Amino acid sequence: MLKRVTWMSALLCAAVLSAAPAYANPTISVIASFSVMQDLVKRVAGDTVSVNVIVPAEEDVHRWELTPPNVLDMEDIDIVFYNGLGLEPWMHHVEAMSGDRLTLIEVAAQADYAPITISTGLHKGEPDPHMWMDPQGAAAYIDVIADVLAEHLPDQADAFYARAEEAKKALSIIDQAVKERLDGIPQINRTLVTSEAGFGYFARAYAFQAFGVWGVNHETQGSALAMAKMSEYLAEKRPLALFYESTTSQIHMDALSRETSLPLAGPLYVDALSNTDGPAANYSAMLRHNAEVLHTALGGATAE
Ligand SMILES: [Zn+2]
Repeated sequence: MLKRVTWMSALLCAAVLSAAPAYANPTISVIASFSVMQDLVKRVAGDTVSVNVIVPAEEDVHRWELTPPNVLDMEDIDIVFYNGLGLEPWMHHVEAMSGDRLTLIEVAAQADYAPITISTGLHKGEPDPHMWMDPQGAAAYIDVIADVLAEHLPDQADAFYARAEEAKKALSIIDQAVKERLDGIPQINRTLVTSEAGFGYFARAYAFQAFGVWGVNHETQGSALAMAKMSEYLAEKRPLALFYESTTSQIHMDALSRETSLPLAGPLYVDALSNTDGPAANYSAMLRHNAEVLHTALGGATAE
């Protein structure tokens, strides 16, 4: 009997010991504003930090409205990682809700990465928010995320920084892969016409000329003037194709495509990842998919 009691206490002891790390590693819950940011935060956070998302995959980050589940999620959250620079106009609702309880991190505004200035539209002169479209911009986000998590959970700082280094290595590999794929597209064909002007950083990184039918952040979506201007430009320049994004309506690009007899290709992913069974389920897949779409539509040379 005595032996059996000892055995039982050993088991209990083991159970307590195995539960101990949960106390030794305090955890926090964070939420990312949109699916691309969620993927980048997850790469740094590891298993001890839960990473939820406000605007899910496939949904338009610019025009989101907070849902009742979003509001409920926010009750258990410590940090909100959002892009900022005007990407999420609905963030003021989160700010109003958070009081002093939530830490709000405007990742793009803190990132050590040279911004591009918006050249047209309502936001002319302001920094373009779509920095993640260049893997080097995404790497700058990773640094911000690692610093913030390390500050909140100092005991796990080394693990956050180690994962951040891994993530940046992976970003550099995808950057190279995209460059190589796009190298097959002659420079003269590298014109990228999309609905929203969200490809400025991508264009800078990969030597494209990017044009949006409307400006950044949907502010003049498909206005008659914007459409007329683009139609004139297309008639003169005759790029090989027009492109639509996964989160924008195809109506305007369809109309331009018919009017100019230029083929329409897509979807390109910018402001959202796809669902897990789609072609852009994570950040790297998104860039690879976009590179493939561009390669096919813009006359990329096929491999020997
Ligand atoms: Zn956008």
